[in-house]
Amino acid sequence: MDITDRSVVRAPDFPLDPNNLPFGRTFSPNMFLMDYDEERGWHNPRIVPFGPLSLSPATMVFHYGQEIFEGLKAFRHPDGSVHIFRPDRNAARFNRSARRMSMPEIPESVQLEAMRALVAVDREWVPPTPGALYIRPTMIATQESLGVSPSTQYLYFIITGPTGPYFRTAGKTLRIMIARDWVRAAPGGTGAAKTGGNYAASLLARKIARDHGCAEALWLDAVERRHVEEVGAMNIMFVLDGVVTTPPTSGTILEGVTRESIGVLCKELGIPFVQRAIHIEEIIQGLEAGDCTEVFGCGTAAVVAPVGELVDILPDGSERVYKVGDGSEGPVARKLREVLTGIQFGTHPDTHGWLVRV
Ligand SMILES: *Cc1c(COP(=O)(O)O)cnc(C)c1O
Repeated sequence: MDITDRSVVRAPDFPLDPNNLPFGRTFSPNMFLMDYDEERGWHNPRIVPFGPLSLSPATMVFHYGQEIFEGLKAFRHPDGSVHIFRPDRNAARFNRSARRMSMPEIPESVQLEAMRALVAVDREWVPPTPGALYIRPTMIATQESLGVSPSTQYLYFIITGPTGPYFRTAGKTLRIMIARDWVRAAPGGTGAAKTGGNYAASLLARKIARDHGCAEALWLDAVERRHVEEVGAMNIMFVLDGVVTTPPTSGTILEGVTRESIGVLCKELGIPFVQRAIHIEEIIQGLEAGDCTEVFGCGTAAVVAPVGELVDILPDGSERVYKVGDGSEGPVARKLREVLTGIQFGTHPDTHGWLVRV
């Protein structure tokens, strides 16, 4: 691929202090763009200064929501080198999302080259440990038309930005609300695709969770409203009788790269790991009986996010609170986070070839 380079090389004019970089607010100076139309396919790959896009108000993405995205990170190692964590898995998932949303795929090799070229240009923006450069590849429908059909034109863009650790205070746990009245994804729907509409539809439950002092909603399945699916925009795991247990991804759950990586690490560390359907009643009983010792979310942003309390909002508006252990982070979550971030930060050997050097 011949990438036209019109980048501006600019180092940050402030120190990239990982403990003072809120997620998703600061952007690196350049972005990658590439266009698609039916005659030419993907064409005109270019790196240009970060800035506004100019789009007609009739652009299809604004009306029917044909949009997909990815989220991954690049890390700075102690020797100064920069590495992206498992970008091949995100590129493959991007194409699965594209198929579900009737959008054109982009060869994985093209996606990887685009990410590497952009991160290379803005490598000064990769903060030191425990920070990372967040990478956000996105595709939008750009045909100007109000007709309901798949767009014939698309824009692929990648933006990046330095970010600190999700948790600034080690050992902090989340309080989460069991979402009884809203669902995130239904069988046959778009739950397995990383598409903006899933997020838009989840914000109301999140707001109600926040009103009850909870950070996120715990999503149950749409049909029986009892199988646990995800927490916020993270996959969920439970330690049940010493076994790390997570629901299988079968269309309504996003196939997280962190989730998959944790499965591999569990095997390696000798921690039992199973995928099976999990009922919310089983969890509540397990918490009360002491068989469920840990609950944690996992995803690129937070890596491992321990949950300290589950909250049920009763019909009269009162709360029923189920504590997880003593409410602090458990040993399994801590171990998995240490090993996974160790690989990412270059302090633990990368025996799986998960890091791609920029
Ligand atoms: C992105 C995402 C995840 C986590 O996936 P990772 O690849 O681990 O970052 C989980 N659930 C939802 C709904 C997501 O959008």
